Amino acid sequence: MNNFLKTLIILTLLSSSMSWAKPNIVILATGGTIAASGESSTSSAYSSGVATVDELINAVPAINKIANIQGEQISNIGSQAINDKIWLKLANRVNTLLKKDSVDGVVITHGTDTLESTAYFLNLTVRNNKPIVVVGAMRSGSSLSADGPLNIYNAVSVAINKNSFNKGVLVVMNDEIHSAREVAKMNTSLVNAFASPNTGRIGTVYYGKVNYYTQSTKRNTINSEFNIENITSLPRVDIIYAHAQDTDIFVKAAVNAGAKGIIHAGMGNGNIYPLTLKALAKASKNGVIIARTSRVGSGRTNLHEEVNDTKYGFIVTDNLNPQKARILLMLGLTKTNNKEKLQQMFFEY
Ligand code: ASP
Repeated sequence: MNNFLKTLIILTLLSSSMSWAKPNIVILATGGTIAASGESSTSSAYSSGVATVDELINAVPAINKIANIQGEQISNIGSQAINDKIWLKLANRVNTLLKKDSVDGVVITHGTDTLESTAYFLNLTVRNNKPIVVVGAMRSGSSLSADGPLNIYNAVSVAINKNSFNKGVLVVMNDEIHSAREVAKMNTSLVNAFASPNTGRIGTVYYGKVNYYTQSTKRNTINSEFNIENITSLPRVDIIYAHAQDTDIFVKAAVNAGAKGIIHAGMGNGNIYPLTLKALAKASKNGVIIARTSRVGSGRTNLHEEVNDTKYGFIVTDNLNPQKARILLMLGLTKTNNKEKLQQMFFEY
């Protein structure tokens, strides 16, 4: 064998062993602005969920240098159209993928409107300690200074990072890493729309460089008791938003529609307008789980302050926002109707 041939063989072996050494990441695309196309580079008008997963991957060639990337399309919608069916499909798929030795982590691209809800749903239903990263974008792919490509690069960087194991589901947006339980969309349109109002971000990812500073202490993923493997639908839980001069009609409507639980997004520390309180007390007496949360946006809703929770049989939701409290109550109701047990879940997850 001549020297040229030998060198060629060595180089081929080296490059293929290098690609074996790269982590295997699956990108699951669901739609959203990150996959959107706008009217022009300076227009804010666009349609969500246009680009396919392959187009998203091709738009960020740099991710192929740091990982072996595979893509799958779960849905292609604006995340305002997300539903239980897609959540169950996504969670089951993530569970199946992460069980494989050949998959080291997953990245889920998602619209930002309900990104925090999907992330928290996965945080409670995926039983694996491998990295699970949810990512979105505030600007469409055709916009000037689109944030999607760098967010995707950063999300893959977080997914391949050894320190991302055992952290529960992570959300990457705007160079920040957030815990799925804590993160919320706090602004309708700015690039820094995401924040964790109660605890702050857990880390940063700067052009792929990952740093963690803190971690959620709440139960998640491998420590979660929820199993959706054999579940095809979730119990109905409605959210009712409190306001001055409130009414009882939405409580009655929810009960009539068959709600098993109601999340009351109360004023201040979960407080309730008297007429609404009467209707909620009646619903509670009839077996509907009433969980008090707050419309404030941060802080804990505490038991027995201005509301006599024992008298009415209400539970509280710790510092979860209403949309996350709804997810925990839906999953809790798949296991039990017992109020004490459900209350305990709100303190643990
Ligand atoms: N409506 C879009 C969505 O949630 C907004 C976004 O992705 O930023 O799909």
